[in-house]
Amino acid sequence: MAKKVLVLGSSNVDFILRIPRFHNPGETIMGENLITAFGGKGANQAIAAKRLGGKVSFITKLGNDPYGKSYQKYLIKNGLDPKCLLMDRNLPNGMALIELHPKGENRIIVSPGANGSLFPKDLEKLKQAWKEVKVFVTQLEIPLPTVKAALEMARNHGTITLLNPSPSIRLPSQLLSLVDFLVPNELEAQLLAGIKMKRDQDLPKIAGSLLGMGAKNVVITLGPKGAFFKNRDEEIWMEAFRVKVVDTTAAGDAFMGALACGLAEGKPTREALRFANAAGALAATKLGAQPSLPNRKQLERFLSKQGNPIKDCHLRRQRRRSSPDHLRRPHQSPFSLSRQRNSGLATRDP
Ligand code: ADP
Repeated sequence: MAKKVLVLGSSNVDFILRIPRFHNPGETIMGENLITAFGGKGANQAIAAKRLGGKVSFITKLGNDPYGKSYQKYLIKNGLDPKCLLMDRNLPNGMALIELHPKGENRIIVSPGANGSLFPKDLEKLKQAWKEVKVFVTQLEIPLPTVKAALEMARNHGTITLLNPSPSIRLPSQLLSLVDFLVPNELEAQLLAGIKMKRDQDLPKIAGSLLGMGAKNVVITLGPKGAFFKNRDEEIWMEAFRVKVVDTTAAGDAFMGALACGLAEGKPTREALRFANAAGALAATKLGAQPSLPNRKQLERFLSKQGNPIKDCHLRRQRRRSSPDHLRRPHQSPFSLSRQRNSGLATRDP
């Protein structure tokens, strides 16, 4: 069975600064020494899947400058097919300026550079990259027409499609209906659905609205609260694994890469989600984007220490609601509910 993962997306060089606090407009503050690292959502997700043992190709466009050239060498060294690593003759490489708060939160500004010139016509030249692809992954740090063209190509090849709608913009139903797994974070989900989340119980409504816009499955990542999955038949609530957080940069990318890798291996949805939840948690324990992405051994060791997998997820089938909303006390989050009722509920794979 084909098990290849094809990732399409950005490659940025990250300039990371630890700062004492987020500062005000017009104010200058002192940060720590600059850290430079390879990043960009596309590259992070490709490396995340590759590090977990996936057979991965990565289509990206690098800049014709020292950053782009060293990024190209690095991606080739990491086993990614050189034919898919395009280079723009005129533009600089994509960049990201990342501010890191002592509490582990971050603020990021992205300059697209060559990522902005990755066009549908580039995909036409890379038709061989689709051979034996089981899972296709993309995000929104490259032009939207390219994302749409690639999703259409994926559909024509019968490939499972994953879209991480980041950075967030409103997306047309025409595009969302090409997506098998839509994976926004909490903020992106609210923006896409046009619904504000006031409490955890709003998640089914937000995910339901995204399903209504055309996505087949929705996974909302919730940072330290874990993740929430919904499709037409069921809901899965997953608590985050408890870890010592250092820097959450690329936690979402680790989650995406692992989800893609798990689905390409044929894992059932619930298992692939647990795999992704663990990858996201491990990525939050280390500084930086790609340096923090776990390898297969680290992830399996971590998961083996977590005990009963059924305890991590709470599954609810739509037609057989085992924990009706009206039985919940108003202050009780679905996540605390899942902790109390775990063992009897999540017994079958979706
Ligand atoms: P993004 O980086 O795209 O904003 P999230 O912050 O939602 O994404 O994180 C993605 C996933 O990483 C979460 O769903 C969870 O599995 C994991 N994760 C993130 N932060 C933590 C944390 N503090 N503790 C444990 N897991 C985390």
